[in-house]
Amino acid sequence: MPAGRGTAQMSNAFQPSTRVAAPPDGLTEAERIRILAKSAIFSPPPMTDPQGRRELVGLTREELSEEMLAIGEKPFRAKQLWHWIYHQGARDFSVMNTIARPLQIKLAERFVIGRPGVAAEQTSTDGTRKWLFKWRDGQEVETVYIPESDRGAVCISTQVGCTLSCTFCHTGTQKLVRNLGTAEIVGQFLAARDSYGEWPTPKGEEGRRLSNIVVMGMGEPLYNYTNTARALTILMDHEGVGLSRRRITLSTSGVVPMMDKCGEELGVNLAVSLHAVRDDLRDELVPLNRKYPIAELLAACRRYPGASNARRITFEYVMLRGVNDSEAEAHELVRLLRGMPAKVNLIPFNPWPGSPYLSSTAEALNRFAAIVNDAGYSSPIRRPRGRDISAACGQLKTESERARRTTAA
Ligand code: SF4
Repeated sequence: MPAGRGTAQMSNAFQPSTRVAAPPDGLTEAERIRILAKSAIFSPPPMTDPQGRRELVGLTREELSEEMLAIGEKPFRAKQLWHWIYHQGARDFSVMNTIARPLQIKLAERFVIGRPGVAAEQTSTDGTRKWLFKWRDGQEVETVYIPESDRGAVCISTQVGCTLSCTFCHTGTQKLVRNLGTAEIVGQFLAARDSYGEWPTPKGEEGRRLSNIVVMGMGEPLYNYTNTARALTILMDHEGVGLSRRRITLSTSGVVPMMDKCGEELGVNLAVSLHAVRDDLRDELVPLNRKYPIAELLAACRRYPGASNARRITFEYVMLRGVNDSEAEAHELVRLLRGMPAKVNLIPFNPWPGSPYLSSTAEALNRFAAIVNDAGYSSPIRRPRGRDISAACGQLKTESERARRTTAA
């Protein structure tokens, strides 16, 4: 669907919701006010285009009904629009042939069905495709499509920059600018589907080209929970995009109070950025560990609703040469995971300009994998994807910013 992309950027790149995330339970009033104030600063801008038209992508079914009632239409119109937007992938009211022309015109005067602008797009020889999507306020985030033999995962972002500063992650060097709104999180998947022309939504789950979502892009999704949860709920709706919760994996660096909520409310698969088996080292690699140390994090994993042998929790472990890749650390990892339905993703470090680490050697990688595997935990070594394009998380954004600075200079 490359044809329409340029125009979309001009006319209806959407604006996200202005809702402020409700802070997790069990907090003092002072903490509650502090979190509310903080998330207000990073809230996405309002959801209207320059003509004041309201964005429909990202609205819940109830909100869509309210919008229809507000313009004097019956609530069933919301069901019709839901079908066209999320099942048919329509971006223009004039193609909605179940809606009469006068109403199509009325809708187009008041609403838009947006898509992000495309600031950059790269496709690797291994089929990985990466976009730098651009919002109306000029902010940009990365989204990646990773095809495998039996599935295709869309890796979506939830923040511009990141709240956290993990030292092995390129995005960790980018300060948090703001949270993405529901429309912007949903829009990444819709735009990826446009790119592969996978509309209308295929019947059933099998055989889909864009079959899975991994919330592993830029940002910590549990620090933008409200918009992330709304977006995944929309994408899981069976009358629209219809992605099953078993095909969605949310990755967190360990925001413990929100993990229970995520499991109870969304029931999606959980992935945890672990990367170390000792607190002193994890404090350095994943500074959030100082707030929620390993013991607390693993306790939250053990009580994560829905985790089972059929739906194991994925522990991500970036392999850093001479830092966290010793045999002793592999044995300690096995000890920490004992009795938990878990699998381990061993990720050879993907160096980025200025990164302080090297990837583990192949011997160290294989030795580590063998120890974890022999203990009964599948620990595939993740095959680096898209190395011929700016694959590392945050790299394409940095390069486009650098290119802009160079041209401006
Ligand atoms: S690993 Fe995730 S949470 Fe950590 S800095 Fe990178 S994007 Fe943020």
